[in-house]
Amino acid sequence: MNKADNIEYVIPIKGLSVGKYHYDFTVGGDFFREYENRDIDGAQLKISLTLDKHATFIDVKGIFKGAVTTKCDRCLGELEVEIDFTASLLVKFGEITQGEESEEIITLDPSESDLDLKQFFYDYIYLALPIQRVHKEDECDLEMLEKLQNYRVTNVEERKNSPFEKLKNLMN
Ligand SMILES: [Zn+2]
Repeated sequence: MNKADNIEYVIPIKGLSVGKYHYDFTVGGDFFREYENRDIDGAQLKISLTLDKHATFIDVKGIFKGAVTTKCDRCLGELEVEIDFTASLLVKFGEITQGEESEEIITLDPSESDLDLKQFFYDYIYLALPIQRVHKEDECDLEMLEKLQNYRVTNVEERKNSPFEKLKNLMN
């Protein structure tokens, strides 16, 4: 991906004087398609970003609100997950040392003119998804569940005979 494609999520920081700034961003499904992410099928998100510029670092705070469309683990149907969280990022200027980079801290060369937030947005939205993604009990696609049930029976039979399952029975 070249820089021009990314312009929407780039903040020019060269010459930005010390102080607080506010930016609004929107993130849609296209954003995740670029990453070829198979877990996220769609998104309608707004990110309200505050950038606090200090002499040697920048504090970035984003409020993420909206929804992400993913798949239900149980019926494989479309599942909308509500997103509402705040995330912070510390941008430091100086020599980039190996191992210092983390999800919350990035180091930029002092001559860097742009702050690219795309990876920050992507990582945090993806992390915000629950590990277990399932519909509420009665909202699953019943027809699909039945099909999956038939398919899974064989697997369950196999599992019953596994050593782990026998151990679990002993423990009960
Ligand atoms: Zn479901």
